[in-house]
Amino acid sequence: MKLTNRFNLPEPFVAAVSSDDYERGEAEYTSTELIKPSRILAYSRKYESVMSEDASDRVWAFQGQTKHVVLERIAKSNPDRYLVEKRFETTMPGTGAKISGKIDLFDKNDATLYDWKETSVWKFLIGDTEEWEQQANINLFLMRMNGLMPHRLINIAILKDWKARKARFTKEDYPKCAVHVMPLPMWSVGQAQEYISKRVEKHRAEMANPPVCNKRERWQRDANFAVMRTDRKRAIRLYQNRDQAEAAMLHAMKIAPPGDSKKFYIEERAAEPVRCLDFCEVQTYCDFGMEADKKWKEKHASETKD
Ligand code: SF4
Repeated sequence: MKLTNRFNLPEPFVAAVSSDDYERGEAEYTSTELIKPSRILAYSRKYESVMSEDASDRVWAFQGQTKHVVLERIAKSNPDRYLVEKRFETTMPGTGAKISGKIDLFDKNDATLYDWKETSVWKFLIGDTEEWEQQANINLFLMRMNGLMPHRLINIAILKDWKARKARFTKEDYPKCAVHVMPLPMWSVGQAQEYISKRVEKHRAEMANPPVCNKRERWQRDANFAVMRTDRKRAIRLYQNRDQAEAAMLHAMKIAPPGDSKKFYIEERAAEPVRCLDFCEVQTYCDFGMEADKKWKEKHASETKD
């Protein structure tokens, strides 16, 4: 992947974000690749040599690298107790695929496998932790296949856009601090083996002609229905289906002052494919992603004209 520098950032910063210590070994798939949608994996492999990224967009990757420094420091403080950033490999029975995964930290004292994740408050609030559970359990399986027996899986989520002010003043579900400790369910060996084999078979079958990522993979929620008033820009309330919105609108019309009942209407708000728009490294090679981006730009261009 080529690195550009559109904002003429200083050389030391560019050098810092250029370093890439990612190594996949001889594996056909890593744990990160196994959980990815086939289209993202296929396109990132296919276009790797021509893809480019701006240094300014790697700021979060840079922050992620600081995690490695911190983990190394923990390991040095007590090398007998902590196993840090070790890659494990195994060959799967049946498919014969060699898979690998690198753990963050294993505490031998209480046999806990820790995974550090940087995430947004938005992702935390929608409770989308399925991929964390899958990746952690692939790594757990790899450790078991190499003779280590973790007893607990813990995810430490760092909420990078967390705001103290919002925690004090906003609604109850806003996280109370920027670090969230989350125990993850542990899969049996059989469960993990079945999951991994299915992912290997799916990737192999779809690699040459990968389908568009499904709604869940695109981080796209269902559409909402907003009860609106012609004299207000913001919705009175959002509903997940049209019937609920219509019932609420009829009630609002009934209790509104005379003359106001004609001001209510329902607006359907299509959910956006958040991953395609903001988080997909192959969006510019994917017809669906390019179309989503085009529509988003058209929609927001007309909003600015208003
Ligand atoms: S742009 Fe969307 S559909 Fe295309 S590969 Fe990325 S996430 Fe999948």
